[in-house]
Amino acid sequence: MADKQLGAGMFQVNDEDEIHAFNRQWVIFSVALLANMVDRLVGLLGPVAKRQIYEAGFSSGKIAGDRMREFFGGGIEQIKKHLDLIKNMGWGRIKNVEYDDASGKIVIDFHETWESAGYGEVHPGEKQKAATCVLCAGLYAGAATGAFEKQYEAEETLCVSKGDPVCRFEFTPVGELKRVIK
Ligand SMILES: [Zn+2]
Repeated sequence: MADKQLGAGMFQVNDEDEIHAFNRQWVIFSVALLANMVDRLVGLLGPVAKRQIYEAGFSSGKIAGDRMREFFGGGIEQIKKHLDLIKNMGWGRIKNVEYDDASGKIVIDFHETWESAGYGEVHPGEKQKAATCVLCAGLYAGAATGAFEKQYEAEETLCVSKGDPVCRFEFTPVGELKRVIK
């Protein structure tokens, strides 16, 4: 495998030996550390921890989605460009993206996520009972919310950690659902 520059050269180590990109300082840690943190919190607190990790991802993803509207113009085209950017940053390869214009539903298949890779390292050969990738689910639900300027909720319906071939996230616009139910 040929070496590529991290984040397509967008990350730099500055004179203070800190990693910087997009005028912010960044940290790089292993997927195993991420999986260990999630695992410990979920083991101790259960679904409450999962929801909080999801919400933390959502907040960050929405900031990115909101900022990108100016450059990528919002909607599903923005989501596709965002996923290209993520791939170029080295943050994950996407197998498939589907979008249903009528319902606003988005389905994204990842070959793997940070969390499923981390769970694979921390628990080699074990299949998890539930989907593990709550941070990624939150991040991309936030990104979709920013791109479409309406609230999206994510559900991970397939997960590599459970032995599925991909991590599949289904994103549904919450406001649209509520309108239909009324
Ligand atoms: Zn997963």
